[in-house]
Amino acid sequence: LETATELDTIAAISTPPGEGGISIVRISGNEALDVASRIFKGKDLHKVKSHTINYGHIVDPKTGSTVDEVMVSVMLAPKTYTCEDVVEINCHGGIVPTNDILQLLLSHGARMAKPGEFTERAFLNGRVDLSQAEAVMDLIRAKTDRSMKVALNQLDGDLSHLIKRLRQDILDVLAQVEVNIDYPEYDDVETMTSKLLREKAIELKAQIKQLLLTAQEGKILRDGLATAIVGHPNVGKSSLLNRMLHEDKAIVTDVAGTTRDVLEEYVNVRGVPLKLVDTAGIRETNDKVEKIGVERSRKALQTADLVLLVLDSSQPLSDEDQQLIQATDEAKRIIILNKTDLPMALDTDELFNSVSEDEVIRTSATKGAGLDDLKEKIAKLFFGGIESSQNNVIVTNARHIGLLNQAQGALDAVLQGLDDGMPVDLVQIDMTRCWEFLGEITGDSYQDELLDQLFSQFCLGK
Ligand code: GDP
Ligand code: ZN
Repeated sequence: LETATELDTIAAISTPPGEGGISIVRISGNEALDVASRIFKGKDLHKVKSHTINYGHIVDPKTGSTVDEVMVSVMLAPKTYTCEDVVEINCHGGIVPTNDILQLLLSHGARMAKPGEFTERAFLNGRVDLSQAEAVMDLIRAKTDRSMKVALNQLDGDLSHLIKRLRQDILDVLAQVEVNIDYPEYDDVETMTSKLLREKAIELKAQIKQLLLTAQEGKILRDGLATAIVGHPNVGKSSLLNRMLHEDKAIVTDVAGTTRDVLEEYVNVRGVPLKLVDTAGIRETNDKVEKIGVERSRKALQTADLVLLVLDSSQPLSDEDQQLIQATDEAKRIIILNKTDLPMALDTDELFNSVSEDEVIRTSATKGAGLDDLKEKIAKLFFGGIESSQNNVIVTNARHIGLLNQAQGALDAVLQGLDDGMPVDLVQIDMTRCWEFLGEITGDSYQDELLDQLFSQFCLGK
């Protein structure tokens, strides 16, 4: 049973801060109707039907003065976002009336909700599991249609169902093992039971591995494909970045090295968010700094999923270019010959000595030429496989990935134990650990700190 404090009535502004057409103040809890009624003049909210919207005024009971003209939605438990009684006050979108209404609610029995607390209640009241609650946040932060679809599937419970099925399988086999131990009707119980555990462990490992295989693309869909743009000053990195963003977000200038801050922007390449990092500060005025430049590019490369190396085709290939070509050799990269609108001065034969021809794409950032080719190439290089697994369960969340890895580790321990001839009841312990790790994904087992940490990342009022 919940304690009293967990069941108190909470309130928060659920629309983004600032002015707008309307704002919504949300109240949830056993006393949601009582609290709202104390400051609402209109129909008796206790008597209206559930899931109706009701016209009236918010009036300060102390002064009797009208605060705002409002529409109040009444949604009775359990078919609500939180599974509790929920009242939503739709008011005029100003900052002052919205805050005034919230303050009135807080002084008439509601407590200020913590970030994500409405969603946390949906979890605590059993309406969604943990992975579904996490999907709510991913949905809010989704950067493209496709990332949104993956989050929606997770919210629908696709991942939860799969995990629950795996856990049930484990329970079944553990039960079977118990039976074998308790009723040793056969001479070779130990052998039979070991065989059962081994088969199951192998099968589960394969399924978890399959899930983990989706994690790379899942991470890309959720967080974006980290893309580093490297190249020495004035080759056109910022211009290219701006072209891709279709707007002037990075500072473009004729002076070498004026792009100072590392900028991060997202570009939508066929539904996949490309997180572009303009590696500003790769500035080379002398040899020493040049080394730092290459050094920095190396750093960027370590964290990048994709490298776009930009060369100025109107200039001969420089030593700096060669160094960057070497430095990016190991990375997944595309080499961009920019400024193709100018007379060609770069010796392509020389270039193709060190790079493969199909790594290269020709663009003119100022004329906007070659950008489609670039996107096409990125899509081919990276997301060939994503289209195919679009409808499957995709793991996107670092917490889930960590737990799946731990579950896999527990299964390895099961297999190792069997190989070493460990007694079955000891092997069972590792199988149970696997079951527990999977349970943490859906929140079937969790710790309070985890909840605090997860839900505090939510926005206020969600
Ligand atoms: P960055 O230092 O690599 O970021 O280079 P910028 O994007 O700041 O560009 C340096 C200069 O080259 C600017 O004057 C741009 O207008 C110019 N530039 C960039 N791309 C092209 C291009 O494709 N063609 C021509 N002609 N000029 C370009
Ligand atoms: Zn720049």
